[in-house]
Amino acid sequence: MKNYNIAVLKGDGIGPEIVDEAIKVLDRVGEKFDFKFNYDFRLMGGCAIDATGSPLPQETIDACKNSESVLLGAVGGWKWDTLPGNQRPEAGLLGIRNALGLYANLRPAKIFEPLKEASPIKDEIIGDGLDIMIVRELTGGIYFGQRGRKEDNGIPAAYDTEMYNVKEIERIARVAFDMAMKRQKRLTSVDKANVLESSRLWRETIINVSKDYPEVELNHMYVDNCAMQLVRNPSQFDVIVTSNIFGDILSDEASMISGSIGMLASASLAGSTFGLYEPIHGSAPDIAGQSIANPLATILSVAMMLRYTFAEKEAAEAIENAVDEALKTARTPDIYKEGFKKVSTSEMGDLVAELAVK
Ligand code: NAD
Repeated sequence: MKNYNIAVLKGDGIGPEIVDEAIKVLDRVGEKFDFKFNYDFRLMGGCAIDATGSPLPQETIDACKNSESVLLGAVGGWKWDTLPGNQRPEAGLLGIRNALGLYANLRPAKIFEPLKEASPIKDEIIGDGLDIMIVRELTGGIYFGQRGRKEDNGIPAAYDTEMYNVKEIERIARVAFDMAMKRQKRLTSVDKANVLESSRLWRETIINVSKDYPEVELNHMYVDNCAMQLVRNPSQFDVIVTSNIFGDILSDEASMISGSIGMLASASLAGSTFGLYEPIHGSAPDIAGQSIANPLATILSVAMMLRYTFAEKEAAEAIENAVDEALKTARTPDIYKEGFKKVSTSEMGDLVAELAVK
């Protein structure tokens, strides 16, 4: 039997509740597909501050590095909101991304057929559905470039610098092309090459890498047009690859198309298989401890883990299909609609686990 090692950071707020459900589903699927998970539970975020004084203890980093994959719930909460920025739970998020070299952020934006009515986009625009994967560069660009304050003719001024080198662009391009190969083989590279020099290098490099992927249909789009196309005709996209800042904005826009924050998974990869998987939402302190959080984003995150880290495609599909199936009858309060059974966090986990092994 295969053994897979996962570092688990449940975090704060609803983190522990939703992670427990994802583990429940993983274990059931493991039994069916004949593999076993070893979990190494560690602290990150507010719970780590309370226990150790640091949002990201070194032993948590070490445990993540010694595992094949990391599952994260969410961090943060009112209790720690008055701490200085670098001591807050959220500092752990940037810290762990840096420490693990997670340079590729994958954010699927998908409409689940049973939840179609929750999308703010009109039915005729959604058509048969929508399934976009945004690949965002996560450790370079303007968020990490040179910045500062200076005087401009005696007037206080500030600057930030967008810079990418060819190697950084090449490695994110390869993640995106590989992703496109596993999907519909269509890739849109988003830049601002009509204005920015860094975007011109981005475009040249993407074109160079595309020579290794002749089966992938590549097109280029300016970021302002892409922002518009995402709401005008979102089903034209399969995989989108873009820089850190453009990806930050576009992935949030795309996530709204699905209509519910409790449904969206994400992965951040370092290289071809190691990754950190987490829901896109936060720790939702307003509903923590009430057993009403939607665990599906976290459950879908572990489906991504099975697909991208462990190459267990069949098991990943079993979970994704089970989520689709569960939504036909049951809803947590955030996505509840009359005519459906209202279920708690753990009842939703039970149902998906059951359906995934059917
Ligand atoms: P949030 O995503 O936690 O919550 C926004 C709203 O969505 C809330 O009303 C919440 O109840 C609801 N919601 C979120 N997830 C849900 C789920 N699974 N099921 C049902 N409802 C859900 O964002 P926020 O309120 O801005 O932030 C709360 C805390 O989370 C802050 O401390 C913030 O810094 C932190 N945060 C952490 C992460 C992370 O760990 N990756 C990401 C974003 C925010």
